Amino acid sequence: MARYVGPVCRLCRREGMKLYLKGDRCYTEKCAIDRRAYAPGQHGQGRKKVSEYGIQLREKQKTRRIYGVLERQFSNYFDKAERQPGITGENLLRTLERRLDNVVYRLGFASSRSEARQLVTHNHFSLNGHKANIPSMLVEVGDVISLKQKSVKSAKFQDIKENITHKSPPTWLELDGEQLTGKVVALPTREQIDVPVDEHLIVELYSR
Ligand code: SF4
Repeated sequence: MARYVGPVCRLCRREGMKLYLKGDRCYTEKCAIDRRAYAPGQHGQGRKKVSEYGIQLREKQKTRRIYGVLERQFSNYFDKAERQPGITGENLLRTLERRLDNVVYRLGFASSRSEARQLVTHNHFSLNGHKANIPSMLVEVGDVISLKQKSVKSAKFQDIKENITHKSPPTWLELDGEQLTGKVVALPTREQIDVPVDEHLIVELYSR
């Protein structure tokens, strides 16, 4: 389960926007985008003209970074999205949203997708009562994600329990803040996926 382990704020600076990869820190004045809103590296403040290919590439990279997915896996998701009926770009985003780490994040159990990923790999959740410690598992309609009993008692999750009821997950998910469980009531539509991504550009990139 490879993952990106380099400097995270650098990714936001490269994309020129906040990707909210660090949870609560992203909402403070420590955010690197607020302090240095230009691309990292020696030429970060240099040439601005970007080719059509460059625009498409950046959109794909941005999407990958938002969901914390490496190149090979992202390309596999795209192949799968292309084979599904419907609009390829939307299929791609829907698949990314269905990842278990994203669902844990969307339910409010974690402040960022990377934190959610860590919680999943540390075996804090079950899916339909079964062990679920693989962040890339894809949820289906009707699936129930629960915090394990042994984890509920920990200080971290007690804290989450106190605050989680103030968070409202997207309408395709249902949260039970008392039991600390979440249910997938539908698959997300494009309108319910609030990521700043133009998926058409990704489709164009892979169609080259
Ligand atoms: Fe991005 Fe968050 Fe770092 Fe700001 S603090 S640059 S939003 S990861």
